[in-house]
Amino acid sequence: AKFHGRDNFKLYTEKMGQKAQEEVSLERRIKQAIEKDEFSVAYQPKVKADKTVVSLEALIRWEQPELGLISPKEFIPIAEQSNLIVQIGEIMIDKVLGQLSEWIDLDSRVVPIAINISGRQLVAEDFVAHVEKKLTEHGINGEYLEFEITEGILIQDIENCIAVLNQLKALHIKVSIDDFGTGYSSLSYLKKLPLDILKIDRSFVNECDSKTEDAEICATIINLAKNLSLLTVAEGVETQSQFKTLQKMGCQLYQGYYFHLPQEAKHIHHLLNQPQAL
Ligand code: C2E
Ligand code: CA
Ligand code: CA
Ligand code: CA
Repeated sequence: AKFHGRDNFKLYTEKMGQKAQEEVSLERRIKQAIEKDEFSVAYQPKVKADKTVVSLEALIRWEQPELGLISPKEFIPIAEQSNLIVQIGEIMIDKVLGQLSEWIDLDSRVVPIAINISGRQLVAEDFVAHVEKKLTEHGINGEYLEFEITEGILIQDIENCIAVLNQLKALHIKVSIDDFGTGYSSLSYLKKLPLDILKIDRSFVNECDSKTEDAEICATIINLAKNLSLLTVAEGVETQSQFKTLQKMGCQLYQGYYFHLPQEAKHIHHLLNQPQAL
């Protein structure tokens, strides 16, 4: 039994060693991907109850030549451990603004695009200056941009975040709280920050039509948002029943596979410019 125990331990440390090594090599691959421009953007529409598309969320995609598609759930946390996330963030801002300017040049219908911004990126010294420079470079008004931020950084570094968010507001950039309701019990930060949108986390949306507790949480978030004059977006809506339940609760915007999958730019362009999309 002793040997057995020791073997198990060995196996465990071996696994840990392997995991650490995998992370190192993933980090190296991310660096290469930045150099070789292996990242692209998928766009997922956010719709009103009448299914009109009102904005898009930009989601990073990485097709690694040897490994194939790697999920952002796998590589974003690794990138967040270093300044790589700042570089990735800058790449996303550049690609999204480039896309907007391409569509505007084509006289297409354009809607605002939301970009996920990680905490480290938001509080980086020159973040707002960088965004402003890029807007000017691409000739895009800030009202076409939205940033999605998770609660963590807003709580950890609230004074700094208030200042940054006010600067973004001055550029007419909207700010959403992503995955709302998952992290923190204190809500007092909500009234201190200049916010526009709360995104109800998918984990509550999933069973909002079948579990009383989840229904209560969704209804509470929607009412809270209303009282604070914020919009609510339900993320991860997969069924008509979830949609109808949230609609009755007064949710304004919806995102999820029930409406649209994340898609490449040319499909989105087509979707936005169909007559019925107006
Ligand atoms: P998120 O910001 O919560 O994004 C929503 C995720 O849910 C996306 O996964 C999206 O494809 C997926 N999704 C959308 N609708 C549905 C649905 O109806 N059902 C289900 N089951 N899933 C749905 P994705 O693209 O794999 O991204 C995962 C996470 O990676 C994102 O979660 C976000 O935290 C992060 N991420 C993605 N792109 C970026 C980026 O450019 N920068 C940063 N910092 N993080 C990113
Ligand atoms: Ca998001
Ligand atoms: Ca989210
Ligand atoms: Ca989520």
